Amino acid sequence: MSNKSNNQSNLSFNKEMFNASIARVYQKLGLSAATEMNQKQWWEAVSIAVSEQLNLLPSHFEKQKISKSDKRHVNYLSMEFLIGRLTHNNLLNLDWYDAVAELVKSHGIELADLLDEEIDPALGNGGLGRLAACFLDSMATLNQPAMGYGLNYQYGLFRQSFKDGHQQESADNWNRDNYPWFRHNAQNDVVVNFGGHVETDVDGRKKWVSSFSLHGEAWDLPVLGYRNGISQPLRLWKANTPSPFNLHEFNMGHYLHAELDGNNAEKLTKVLYPNDNHQAGKELRLMQQYFHCACSIADILKKHFSLGRQLKDLAKYEVIQLNDTHPAIAIPELLRVLLDIHHMSWEDAWAITSKIFAYTNHTLLPEALECWDEHLVHRLLPRHVELMHAIDHHLKPLVNAKWPGDEAVWHKLAICHNHQLRMANLSVIGSFAVNGVAQLHSDLVVKDLFPEYHSLWPQKFHNVTNGVTPRRWLKQCNPALSSLIDKTLKTEWAIDLDKLSDLENHIDDESFRQAYRNIKQANKEKLANYVQKKLGITINPEAIFDLQIKRLHEYKRQHLKLLYILTLYRQLRANPDLDIAPRVFFFAAKAAPGYYLAKNIIYTINKVAEKINNDASIKDKIKVVFLPDYRVTMAELLIPAADLSEQISTAGKEASGTGNMKLALNGALTIGTLDGANVEIAQEVGKENIFIFGNTVEQVKAIKTYGYNPQALVHGNSDLQAILGELSDGTFSDGNTEVFMPLVESLTIHGDHYLVLADYADYVRAQTEVDILFRQPDEWTRKAILNTARVGIFSSDRSIRDYQQRIWEQKL
Ligand SMILES: *Cc1c(COP(=O)(O)O)cnc(C)c1O
Repeated sequence: MSNKSNNQSNLSFNKEMFNASIARVYQKLGLSAATEMNQKQWWEAVSIAVSEQLNLLPSHFEKQKISKSDKRHVNYLSMEFLIGRLTHNNLLNLDWYDAVAELVKSHGIELADLLDEEIDPALGNGGLGRLAACFLDSMATLNQPAMGYGLNYQYGLFRQSFKDGHQQESADNWNRDNYPWFRHNAQNDVVVNFGGHVETDVDGRKKWVSSFSLHGEAWDLPVLGYRNGISQPLRLWKANTPSPFNLHEFNMGHYLHAELDGNNAEKLTKVLYPNDNHQAGKELRLMQQYFHCACSIADILKKHFSLGRQLKDLAKYEVIQLNDTHPAIAIPELLRVLLDIHHMSWEDAWAITSKIFAYTNHTLLPEALECWDEHLVHRLLPRHVELMHAIDHHLKPLVNAKWPGDEAVWHKLAICHNHQLRMANLSVIGSFAVNGVAQLHSDLVVKDLFPEYHSLWPQKFHNVTNGVTPRRWLKQCNPALSSLIDKTLKTEWAIDLDKLSDLENHIDDESFRQAYRNIKQANKEKLANYVQKKLGITINPEAIFDLQIKRLHEYKRQHLKLLYILTLYRQLRANPDLDIAPRVFFFAAKAAPGYYLAKNIIYTINKVAEKINNDASIKDKIKVVFLPDYRVTMAELLIPAADLSEQISTAGKEASGTGNMKLALNGALTIGTLDGANVEIAQEVGKENIFIFGNTVEQVKAIKTYGYNPQALVHGNSDLQAILGELSDGTFSDGNTEVFMPLVESLTIHGDHYLVLADYADYVRAQTEVDILFRQPDEWTRKAILNTARVGIFSSDRSIRDYQQRIWEQKL
């Protein structure tokens, strides 16, 4: 991509207009001067002022009207968008940061401080939601016409705190109703129906007679391309009721009364379900999913018609990308609209539907594959259940022709089986493309999850390896490294991350290496100050900063890292002069509130941390820091300060990971298994610049096939025996021998399903190599630089180009 295309039509900053906006804000507050505003009010004022100037850009819709592009318009449907703070990111993408900083400085205000006032819109759980946010950023930057569709949750992901080491959850009221970036135009609102029954009229047509309806309000956030004058909406639907709403008036009566707690429609978009890689199966969640899809499909059709286009051309102009199966109900919803409202034939309706949807699979974990009880769905969406049976009915001859008389295959491939509706099956059948999110994962999607679908439709299956936006995950979060790269490369790398490879030409330049190392050190010192201030823990900024920052899940194996900490701690107690590099072990992770074992792992880590951090005998060689309330803003502080990136999932379980990419980009070396995108990261950076350990996917399969006996492993390894013994004998719990039993027993008598013990010894070996290398600082820095230089391919711009070439621009 040339620089030119990202410079033209850029909106220049208008100082007078900005000042006028600021004046309106403080006057509205009843103040007589800007200087009377507090920090938070300044943040609001600046956000409103920028947002008002953005209105000068042509609207997304206006541009679509005049666009001659034959690029299909992308509708990215996701139940989660983990966007992080917007004001800083928008100023950066507009290239207005310096101008605004100067203006507020004239009022005695530091821009960086006021930006810190923004509460993260935490409208997602983890990687899946963050991916959706990175993709919107890249689509706007690449001028890919696109609209994000999601839900406007009143409460984002819960806030996490610790009380005596236990996770506590509290509501995240992020103040959506006063968030300055939102725009609402009631013309875009839609009506969504629920419940009731299906009737057949005289000409044999089906008609859904619903029992109640809600309003979906369209709340838009601007997604700005990087310095190219493009703004596209992220449309977040908020449930509301047009008039006083009494559930007793509807035949659903008691049933929904209980579900909605007797209140009103607003309940529907109150909370984000806090599960990551786990399906909730709750009725309110299904209602959220349908509400999201019905609003979005109605909106897509409304825009299509208002552009003067024909219904039959829908798939020519629009593509609907499903971020996992959470929006899969959009498939029968579109069919319903085409069949029942527009009276199309099944063949015509299916021809459109099956050419418009594309499905991204995010997990192979069985507990995360969405399965809905047919009766539950029927009560809310009777027509959609009928349609899912109809899709099965039309598929059956094809399956029979390929596997004559094989009932087992049919039972596997049908959407509806045993009164369960399987959303992954619906998504594969209803989509023209299916992709996994890293090469290894995409291979497993074909081989282990959907082999029969693959033999029916081999051309449907693709890989698109995930990516991260370099604007937020380097330019914004690591300004010092960004300006070193600017100075070194003298070119705009933020829209062409492959350019980072030129950094390799500077690797023998001693002053460049020194500058790179100094920046890492300064970032570590900043983090050390934060830890001191927030947690009162003193850490050594010269130590290895060893980070595992991601959702808490057994498959991600935070407890494997814990076992290494316990191992080192025992060695240090035996020999306080043990010759190792000092190390700070960081964790940041939220556990789903209902995930008992995950919470026990957090508790155990916190208790072990307490003991180690207060043990003067080990001379501060190791510290353990568990930062509460991991979120995008915290990731932006942690990632630039990392030396070591822990990506230690059981092989085959992590679909891709994106934290691994952000950390490598910022110069952390990875210790990891051959899982997800780690495989591709290892290929890119070279195996001498990464610490790979553990069983591979094939070896994991073999272990499971031939029988795995974790207790035998414990008996055969005296270190394991000792550290598990210490977790069980009260060493870390004032003599209480019960509190860590859930964790200990999961690894022993419950079978260690994620093979923590099977990978332990090789992990310790790899960690020893880390220790040795870190004590050769120049060697370490060279490898860190190579990591930054060689991971340009993991830009989400590359992911979006792959989607364009492999999926969206397919000739169908
Ligand atoms: C990138 C990111 C994730 C994903 O991390 P993984 O290590 O890939 O699981 C989760 N949460 C936040 C806040 C992130 O920024």
